Amino acid sequence: MSDEKMSIFEYAPAPESQAVVTIEPEYGLFINGKFINGKKHFPTVNPANGKKLSSISQASVADVNKAVIAARTAYVKVWSKMAPAERAKYLYRIARIMQERAREFAVLETLDNGKPIRESRDVDVPLAAAHFFYHAGWADKLQYAGFGENPKPHGVVGQIIPWNFPLLMLAWKVAPALATGNTVVLKPAESTSLTALLFAQVCQQAGLPAGVVNIVTGDGAVGAAIVNHPDIDKIAFTGSTEVGKIIARSVAVSGKSVTLELGGKGANIVFEDAAIDEAVEGIVNGIFFNQGHVCCAGSRLLIQEGIHDEVIEKLKHRMSQIRVGDPMDKNTDLGAINSGEQLSKIKELAASGVAEGAEIWSPNCALPDKGFWFAPTIFSGVTQAHRIAREEIFGPVLSILTFRTPAEAIEKANNTPFGLSAGIWSEKGSRILWASKHLQAGVIWANTFNKFDPTSPFGGYKESGWGREGGRHGLSAYLASGKAGK
Ligand code: NAP
Ligand code: MG
Repeated sequence: MSDEKMSIFEYAPAPESQAVVTIEPEYGLFINGKFINGKKHFPTVNPANGKKLSSISQASVADVNKAVIAARTAYVKVWSKMAPAERAKYLYRIARIMQERAREFAVLETLDNGKPIRESRDVDVPLAAAHFFYHAGWADKLQYAGFGENPKPHGVVGQIIPWNFPLLMLAWKVAPALATGNTVVLKPAESTSLTALLFAQVCQQAGLPAGVVNIVTGDGAVGAAIVNHPDIDKIAFTGSTEVGKIIARSVAVSGKSVTLELGGKGANIVFEDAAIDEAVEGIVNGIFFNQGHVCCAGSRLLIQEGIHDEVIEKLKHRMSQIRVGDPMDKNTDLGAINSGEQLSKIKELAASGVAEGAEIWSPNCALPDKGFWFAPTIFSGVTQAHRIAREEIFGPVLSILTFRTPAEAIEKANNTPFGLSAGIWSEKGSRILWASKHLQAGVIWANTFNKFDPTSPFGGYKESGWGREGGRHGLSAYLASGKAGK
């Protein structure tokens, strides 16, 4: 190797192979254990290059009805009669097959969603399998979970999920529902149905009784048909606060149980005594993980005034190392924005930040010509009145504010209609405990960010939602006799 080459450390492209997945030209709806072709179809595209990947069936109201009938029949005839330890075996089997087919799931997720393969491979897929393993363990121990001697399932559960963590959100929904003895009708997001349809194949492979899991693809109208179906006992929704409010209104008069996991505008608070290099890593992970398409993203950075300049300087240096580009390359840190629609929303909010006087900065990075892309971006000099401090951007855009005293940090952090997540960076344990006591957020990380575990309840205060998912609290949401976990 020449001296020149040895002195410059360059990454060579390391693309993951697509050969491991077979993408069908057309997909049907998964109802009663079989794939049934829909009458209408819509395309799903790879957001990294805009190319069509496949055609997905658009379910009709009649299709949703068939799925609910299948779920009800499976509930009455099979699933509710099965011994809990037998139910658990199916969950274990599903978890193991997900692990065996992990590469397939990771590649498909990255192609359909645009997230880096490193993240789908190391975060989404292993966590999805972990949710099935964790809940498999609960299936025959529910009488010890603290919800009485014989806790009962709701029956048929309708589940609607977003596009940012397609397989993981499916796992968050399906695993606890099945473990507690419910059957399911699930709708994935329109732009990311492929891993849910691969999951349907896994259900077949696991020999799951027909109708226990049904997957109906399509647009928001399919979601509304699920929400309004009279024979569904509980709705579990993850998505925007806007749609969450519509759902809350629809179910209010119906007697259905409901859990809502909605938007966020998480405050990531860096105190003067924090370990700054670690905090900078946490800031980057907090906002640039999954292109910032994360409900609990640390999208508002609050820095104590005395360390503001140092943090910003180090943050800019660190952001210059972020590799943006082909999500299938194993070196990539920041992938594609999931859709043209989401990209327009991000651009519109970023433009409002500039118009309202905040200072915008992005590192020098070449964005691909095709597909949907947005460079990692920070805004400094943001005030609480700015739209970018108040509205969820759901993209790789960080709004930076400052504070002088710990009390001011808490006041600013809580000054939002949301209350999903927060981060605290401090070397002082007493400060961490004090701040977490006063922050109105469902999930609070200290000296870390965006860490997830199936044993840990997740959910929001205020407009970030109702109820919790994960852990014992999450189980209760799927039990008619359980208490809603706040
Ligand atoms: P969204 O527009 O609310 O969509 C979520 C799901 O609801 C999609 O499957 C969507 O279908 C469906 N839907 C749309 N209109 C509906 C209606 N009227 N009735 C029933 N279902 C309907 O949200 P998104 O843009 O996909 O996702 C981003 C949002 O989700 C962000 O606000 C984010 O914070 C939130 N989120 C929250 C969490 C959490 O745990 N708190 C986790 C992830 C994301 P289509 O795909 O066809 O539109
Ligand atoms: Mg797609």
